[in-house]
Amino acid sequence: MKNVCLLGSTGSIGTQTLKVIAAHPDRLGVCALAAGRNAELVEKQIRQFHPLYAVMYDEKAAAGLKTAVADTNTLVLSGMEGLEFIASCPEADIVLGAIVGMIGLKPTIAAIKAGKDIALANKETLVCAGHIIMPLAKRMGVKLLPVDSEHSAIFQSMDKQHGNRIEKILLTASGGPFRGRKASELVNVRPEDALKHPNWSMGAKITIDSSTMVNKGLEVIEARWLFDVDYDRIQVVIQPQSVIHSMVEFDDGAVIAQLGTPDMKLPIQYALLYPDRLPIQGGSKLDFYSISSIGFEKPDMDTFRGLPLAYEAGRRGGNMPTIFNAANELAVAAFLAKKIGYLDIYDSIEYACSHATFINDPDIDEVLLTQEEVSRLLAGRLSEV
Ligand code: NDP
Repeated sequence: MKNVCLLGSTGSIGTQTLKVIAAHPDRLGVCALAAGRNAELVEKQIRQFHPLYAVMYDEKAAAGLKTAVADTNTLVLSGMEGLEFIASCPEADIVLGAIVGMIGLKPTIAAIKAGKDIALANKETLVCAGHIIMPLAKRMGVKLLPVDSEHSAIFQSMDKQHGNRIEKILLTASGGPFRGRKASELVNVRPEDALKHPNWSMGAKITIDSSTMVNKGLEVIEARWLFDVDYDRIQVVIQPQSVIHSMVEFDDGAVIAQLGTPDMKLPIQYALLYPDRLPIQGGSKLDFYSISSIGFEKPDMDTFRGLPLAYEAGRRGGNMPTIFNAANELAVAAFLAKKIGYLDIYDSIEYACSHATFINDPDIDEVLLTQEEVSRLLAGRLSEV
């Protein structure tokens, strides 16, 4: 039995993770749950999964939850202290990080330091601190298992690599809802337009990131750290049907791919039960007779500037990926709140990348200070209505 500490239990990944766990009660259990404010859903999850601990980051939500579940044996905690406590608690065998944004950074580090295996969905953590997390995970001997579908696909394609060198990672992208459009056609995009992903159902922030291709940029940086491949050997390929979830090319030209339906339960389950493969409850399988075509395109880097900006930030290194990511987090929140326009997301990232203080080899405190500096830098630009 593997006990899971689930960070971000109320979100898109979190709720799908609980479905996977519920489908394998003999293999998986829940020892701790955490979310931001949605105490109502956490209460339901406590009553179904009976965890030892539950954390609400928000103090008020934690106080409400404490009262609501006073009749259970679950201990309710709050804040960053609570997140770090459950991520490192002795009862957890694996920590699934599905909090959205840089807030996931410190709990992930606490978990690794406590020797927990990590199933990582929270890509922002590796983007901002890959240079700290990867060596730490190696030193602690913990497994870092990707949950992001593309990285899971790469991980699966590399299995039985037998030490052979990877020539290239081919990271696939659907192209999002605005594939084929030019910048002039994106000026008036509203949040409700950008929230319509053609293939995947995900949380709001990552759905906007997919439409701007910032998400693919974050994934490029994530892949660089997870698979230790430099940026020149990570190529993004548009694969509009999202049938191929990513590929790996070896020195002899052989390309190994992982294919499947767009269902996050597969990479979640693979990370939790690795290396075992079991049926996915409620999952569908590819029907090759009904797939009429699998297409490929080159990404439009002039229109979807999120991707080249991410490559640039990744190649520059240091705290530049943090500046890129922090600016994007703030700009997406402002766009969703209708304070800025769609293309202002790119402008905000560019502005932050050219104005924030560059630090060559930031420690965790400097990563977090960079986030604060970016927030101050963009405050004026993101409050326009
Ligand atoms: P959602 O927005 O659906 O969920 C976010 C989760 O994080 C919620 O449980 C939320 O709690 C919690 N949260 C937010 N702020 C805090 C906080 N301060 N403290 C504790 N918990 C907090 O996001 P997704 O599930 O879509 O994405 C989660 C992560 O996984 C992201 O990093 C994303 O990039 C990555 N990912 C997602 C994929 C997907 O298919 N959705 C695919 C691949 C990666 P509350 O509800 O209470 O606010």
